[in-house]
Amino acid sequence: MENHHDQTERMELEMHTWIETIRTVEDFPKPGIMFKDITPLLQNPDAYRAVMEAFVEIAQTSGATVIAGIESRGFFFACPLAVTLGLPFVPIRKAGKLPWQTVSAEYDLEYGSAVIEMHTDAVTAGDRVLIVDDVLATGGTAEAAGRLVTTLGATVAGYAFLKNLTFLGGTERLLDAPVYSLVDVTE
Ligand code: AMP
Repeated sequence: MENHHDQTERMELEMHTWIETIRTVEDFPKPGIMFKDITPLLQNPDAYRAVMEAFVEIAQTSGATVIAGIESRGFFFACPLAVTLGLPFVPIRKAGKLPWQTVSAEYDLEYGSAVIEMHTDAVTAGDRVLIVDDVLATGGTAEAAGRLVTTLGATVAGYAFLKNLTFLGGTERLLDAPVYSLVDVTE
């Protein structure tokens, strides 16, 4: 029978295997950005499954009743998570993409600003919403997503990411709920 030590070792091995599948692409989409490319992870069913198991644990810990994904890479994790847990999925999209009535939140980019939107009937008072994306960088996008949720009267249960680029300080901007990540990148 497998003992606790063996099990921990196996989990660490699995963790190592799937972390290795994420590749860093230098200078994409512009010079100076080290882009975390998750597509090799999505192509590897074992890695994808391991990641989804970790997201399930996070969602359960957070007490979420709704899973919100941030366009577009957040959908890759938010959608299977919602289906696995039997919870509603709601999309948070770039301005102009959602067809029905929306609320909007603006946030700053390095140069200029951007707007994300959510349908007004996506969440309601009493909902506990887990906001999911692939990477947390400066936190501007996730902070704006949190504002959309609270504008509609719901509560942010947490923010969940595959990778938190902790050296960019995003966590410090997300003060209203716990920030979860599968991997912290410190430099
Ligand atoms: P931010 O608002 O600065 O936290 O940026 C987060 C958004 O930009 C997320 O939707 C990420 O998918 C994307 N992003 C930012 N930096 C990176 C990076 N180095 N690699 C991959 N995606 C990134």
